[in-house]
Amino acid sequence: MYDIIIIGSGPAGLSAAINAKIRNKSFKIFGNKNLSNKLDEAPKVNNYLGFYGMSGKEIRTKFEEHLKEMGIQITEERVNNVYALGKHFAVMVKEKVYESKTIILATGVEYGKHFDGEKEYLGKGVGYCATCDAPLYRGKTVTIIAYNKEAEEEANFVCELAKKVYYIPMYKGKYNLSSSINIINDEPIKIAGELKVKKLILKDSQIETDGIFIIRDSLSPSELVPGLKIEDNHIVVNREMETNIPGCFAAGDCIGKPYQYIKAAGEGNIAALSAVKYLNLIK
Ligand code: FAD
Repeated sequence: MYDIIIIGSGPAGLSAAINAKIRNKSFKIFGNKNLSNKLDEAPKVNNYLGFYGMSGKEIRTKFEEHLKEMGIQITEERVNNVYALGKHFAVMVKEKVYESKTIILATGVEYGKHFDGEKEYLGKGVGYCATCDAPLYRGKTVTIIAYNKEAEEEANFVCELAKKVYYIPMYKGKYNLSSSINIINDEPIKIAGELKVKKLILKDSQIETDGIFIIRDSLSPSELVPGLKIEDNHIVVNREMETNIPGCFAAGDCIGKPYQYIKAAGEGNIAALSAVKYLNLIK
């Protein structure tokens, strides 16, 4: 049972982690190797105090040095769900369950919109964790719409069970995929079916499929944490970064605009301090 589980390794999650460490709490932080893909994308950052003129990549190196100095390690795994169980939380990561007394959501925000039909077929062939649901697709056809390299591992796992796997990369680079996987370079437009998913319509083609997994950098917060109060696609928090679920805090882009590094880092700091205050109260 951890004191705090932090979900997200951008500036908000990292700032929460360093403050949890300073406050001597047991914690785990989930995220990815790059820390945040948005750091990779920023050509020049002029508004982060003390880092004038640095690129996002250079700032990431600074963040990595900071983590190393403090002995903080990112657990490079994607959290699929968080369940509030009254006095603690269950955090689902593929087939594993982690437990914590508090949660800090620092998952960033998705810029892409949902595909036509995605919400309608969610749970009826559409899912967000291929490894979790793979056994349901034994001998069937599965399509993976992938926004990051982590999806390659999921696709390779699914192809051991499924009859056919289509992989639609929404990012550039080399793909480390099993030779039996069919790569499709086309733009998904619409998910269609009847009671369940039957096909994916792309810009220039369409494919028959039994299941579609969409592996984005972040899940929408309402999909991640059932019962979380959301307004205009952002998690609702007060000035202490408390959400409507006791013990669950949120920080960074996922709670609203402006989408900025320094705001995210500041809110991560508040979220961690509020979690510490909460832990002292429930002792
Ligand atoms: P993110 O940085 O988005 O980090 C969230 C992290 O959580 C990601 O690593 C994601 O993979 C991970 N995550 C999400 N869900 C899960 C899950 N379920 N399990 C595990 N991990 C998960 N801001 C500025 O202030 N100045 C700039 O100059 C600037 N330039 C930018 C340029 C570009 C091209 C872009 C895209 C953004 C720019 N920004 C800039 C905005 C800045 O990148 C964001 O405001 C900031 O990264 C938000 O930090 P965050 O921690 O809230 O989220």
